[in-house]
Amino acid sequence: MSKRKSIFFLVVDDGGLPTVSNEKIEVPFPSYLNLLQIAKRFEVKIPLACSMKYLDINNVSGEGSPVKYAEKLITLLKNNNEYLELADHGFSHRLNDSWSEFFDPVRHIRVPEEEQEAKIYNNMLIYKDLGFSFPDIVVPPCNYWEEGVTDRLYSKYGAKYLIGTRNYWQNIDHNKWKLLANFFVPTYSWKDSPYILFLPRIWSGLESKDIELDDTLFKRIKRRIFNNIVFNFVENRTFYVHNHHSHMVHITNFIDERAFVWWSKIFEMCSNDKRIYSAKSNIDAVKYFQGIR
Ligand SMILES: [Zn+2]
Repeated sequence: MSKRKSIFFLVVDDGGLPTVSNEKIEVPFPSYLNLLQIAKRFEVKIPLACSMKYLDINNVSGEGSPVKYAEKLITLLKNNNEYLELADHGFSHRLNDSWSEFFDPVRHIRVPEEEQEAKIYNNMLIYKDLGFSFPDIVVPPCNYWEEGVTDRLYSKYGAKYLIGTRNYWQNIDHNKWKLLANFFVPTYSWKDSPYILFLPRIWSGLESKDIELDDTLFKRIKRRIFNNIVFNFVENRTFYVHNHHSHMVHITNFIDERAFVWWSKIFEMCSNDKRIYSAKSNIDAVKYFQGIR
């Protein structure tokens, strides 16, 4: 039990997306340079989860819609694979008009297996075309996936780890007694999979629309990283402290020109604190997480 520190490890979502969130925030290429600079400075290998439709420069999927700097981003990933690990973040990050892709828990819509596989198959074609092997890590868009289907399909194509949140609550039940009764029962929850290693992540305190890295956001992420017990209750509605593998952030959180200085302060704070285990890579975080879970 002596080894029970809280893990600090970033997994970056929304790689490749030309715009992120309902605010339609445009993602400029230097955001990726900022991320790389941080990874180099702290010698960590940070997973960057990309939606592959936006990197499909040769349109092997037939639905390619490459972001304008796709070739530059692909080169950056290839030349810096000690610092950035390409992870899978679905094909389009879209399901009809929603942002999820493999399951829509808000409307309770499941995606037929053939449709899920078609998306993963497209990604396989794109990885092959670009000279990447199928990524070890998959981060389902919006963290939503269908147990027994999405995990099975991804493992078939070679993914080893599925990173996502544990719970989803839908707090719009009109019957207040039912709402109360369901307070501690998530509308959906995701657990270990027999096909792939499920790695639970937590919110970092930053949302995708948080692009201006000011002191307010610094305080927010700091509270989130260090007050594990409080935030664990907020996220999981239990006093039992669940361990986590990583923190969810988005590429938009690296747009700000202050990103290097701002994130450096976070990384330094974590590596100097005895309560925190600063993981160096996904594999490192996996090993530590498996030791404390
Ligand atoms: Zn995303």
